[in-house]
Amino acid sequence: MRDQFNREIEYARISVTDRCNLRCRYCMPASGVVKLPHDEILRIEEIIRVADMLARLGTRKVRLTGGEPLLRKNLPTLIRELKSLRGIEQVTLTTNGVLLERLAEDLITSGLDGINVSLDTLDAREFEKITRRGIFAEVHRGIQFLFDVGFRNVKLNCVPLRGVNEDNVIALAALAKNHDVKVRFIELMPFGCASQSGLIGMTSAEIISKLENHFGKLIPDTSSKFLQGPAKYFSIKNFVGQVGFIDALAHKFCGSCNRIRLTAEGFLKSCLCYDTGADVKKLLRSGASDEEILAVMRETIYRKPFEHSFGVAAGDARQMYQVGG
Ligand code: SAM
Ligand code: SF4
Repeated sequence: MRDQFNREIEYARISVTDRCNLRCRYCMPASGVVKLPHDEILRIEEIIRVADMLARLGTRKVRLTGGEPLLRKNLPTLIRELKSLRGIEQVTLTTNGVLLERLAEDLITSGLDGINVSLDTLDAREFEKITRRGIFAEVHRGIQFLFDVGFRNVKLNCVPLRGVNEDNVIALAALAKNHDVKVRFIELMPFGCASQSGLIGMTSAEIISKLENHFGKLIPDTSSKFLQGPAKYFSIKNFVGQVGFIDALAHKFCGSCNRIRLTAEGFLKSCLCYDTGADVKKLLRSGASDEEILAVMRETIYRKPFEHSFGVAAGDARQMYQVGG
């Protein structure tokens, strides 16, 4: 369906848990994380019911996220059920990759269409500095597994941070030389922990300049791909894969935003920046009919805010791990 600004809302990011096995500095506090009680988290059947209603309202693509989505039990079942919903054309996942080696085969068999792995560096020490956990080897093996089985549609997402992983962007981009992978650089957003972390994000322009100094000219990919989203992609001579850039601050893409979010606790969130939305779990658990819930969801989507105000006003007390990115 279209919102009040005539944007087609067709992409749902569904968070399946607020738990995580890493503690990335820009996303979660080191300690004192308050976890949702289990019964406050949507059950698999509830997620499927909401996703079905979202599909009826025009959602075509679902991305599972978290917290760390691979910590959620029965994920392959959820993927299979989502894939069978009428109207849903793509089900993808964003993961930190820690459990990927163990679980990827089942996820792929269940019909997953794409996997984004968040990876800020290929340097084990830098990895530990950023994530506060020394388990880079697991993530590396998980990504290698995806390469080995030839899984199509792998993206690696890096948040470049000044003085932390800024030199490793070359090694990360170099993965796209021999592998059909998109290595994407995502601007740090001043959201929750990131604002207090003292970390400074780097702009796409800075990364492009670094990559061009090393690899030569980046060639813009102007072909329009299905539900590609806000990333701008570039090819590099003699590279099989591509590099991409997402900069929500430097280049606001709110005018073409097609997203709606469902948090693990069942809140339908209409913009990453604000707390606007609807408590769908309350409706689900109070016996509301599909028609009643659809009416609330329709209203929430229609009233989606026009644009974020990151850097100007803090609109939501939730942290990134509680929303799903
Ligand atoms: N745990 C999974 C992962 O890390 O991929 C999924 C959830 S995580 C919240 C989703 C994405 O949000 C990750 O790629 C992470 O790098 C990104 N992220 C978290 N906090 C961020 C911030 N302040 N600015 C930009 N990206 C952020
Ligand atoms: Fe966990 Fe992902 Fe947040 Fe890192 S970015 S703390 S892996 S939810």
